[in-house]
Amino acid sequence: MDFKELKEKDNAYIAGTYSRFSAEIYDGDGATLRSEDGKTYIDFGSGIAVNSFGVNDKAWKEAVTAQINKVQHASNLYYTRPQAELAELLCKKTGATKVFFSNSGAEANECAIKAARKYSFDKYGEGRFHIVTLKNSFHGRTMATLSATGQDSLHKYFMPFLDGFSYASPDFAGVKKECGDGTCAVMLELVQGESGVNALDPEEVKKIEKFCKEKDILLVVDEVQTGNGRTGSLYAYMQYGITPDIVTTAKGLAGGLPLGATMFFEKTKNTLAAGDHGSTFGGNPVACAGAASILSRIDKDLLLEVQGKSAYMRTHLGRMPNVLGVSGLGLMIGLELKDKNAREVAEKCLEKGLIVLTAKNRLRLLPPLTVSKGEMDEGLKILNEVLSE
Ligand SMILES: *Cc1c(COP(=O)(O)O)cnc(C)c1O
Repeated sequence: MDFKELKEKDNAYIAGTYSRFSAEIYDGDGATLRSEDGKTYIDFGSGIAVNSFGVNDKAWKEAVTAQINKVQHASNLYYTRPQAELAELLCKKTGATKVFFSNSGAEANECAIKAARKYSFDKYGEGRFHIVTLKNSFHGRTMATLSATGQDSLHKYFMPFLDGFSYASPDFAGVKKECGDGTCAVMLELVQGESGVNALDPEEVKKIEKFCKEKDILLVVDEVQTGNGRTGSLYAYMQYGITPDIVTTAKGLAGGLPLGATMFFEKTKNTLAAGDHGSTFGGNPVACAGAASILSRIDKDLLLEVQGKSAYMRTHLGRMPNVLGVSGLGLMIGLELKDKNAREVAEKCLEKGLIVLTAKNRLRLLPPLTVSKGEMDEGLKILNEVLSE
């Protein structure tokens, strides 16, 4: 089957929900990917922030295959070592006290939404269920997380959406305005990923945190994309100097396998009890073994490296033609372009051997945390060529 036949088969049998780029990913090494016919790509996308250490990372593969050779699935009716060990690691590294495992970002957020409502129900009774999220947010594709997503363009066809969400301007005044007696939680991304890689102002976020604490409104931080070293700290909330009540993560957590985590801090540690929530696949031992391999290596030295690479890339990107601005934090980088269509730029980059993503009309760069200097230089060179055209 050549690439043309692959495309035909895919078009014939896969639901048409994705407008795929014209490239096959077959194998690769680190931040260099290859198609079956031998074309190579520098990867500034990481499978949308998933392949934290690139592809075919040796230690990760060893951890995953060691678990595959023991047991591949057990269900949550029984105890497995990788799950307990990963939960301990997450708690020790964050200050969270309990973790619920699922398989994706949307599921991690579903769990957070349920827990926020139950926390309030337990303490205040019925009616305090309203959740404030931000305009231009993205929290997932399930009905509840779409309802939580503050983008009108996604609120069509599937009516009715879930009740009890409203969308605030991304600052303290905006959030305060949307909060009322019936509000149980504020949920936000510290760097809005899908809508253009926009980092919130830390002073505004601190004010939101203080306000939430005063009103016993839970602060839920969606770190599905920003988490696991992506922004230069283990989780982005750490560099914002806040302590959320619930943190969700997924994407880069297991370094390429599906895993979501909802982390509960002090207030919410006992909110969910037996029977309140569950998942058949959630916390699969193979995914958890992969995640432990990734998480245990995101240490101070690695985070310093991420910060250094971020500074290096941002300096070079800022000097490129037709770049109006460079946004985001760490290796979560947005590029605002002058008179250029982001999708077209991404397609041209791909032709020349560079994978980049888009977010609205910005380019979005999410290279593996372990991207090498040579890979960065090669990718930046291609991007510079395309932007010079
Ligand atoms: C990707 C993303 C999600 C959804 O994650 P899935 O694994 O696709 O369900 C939710 N929130 C944020 C911030 C994301 O970037």
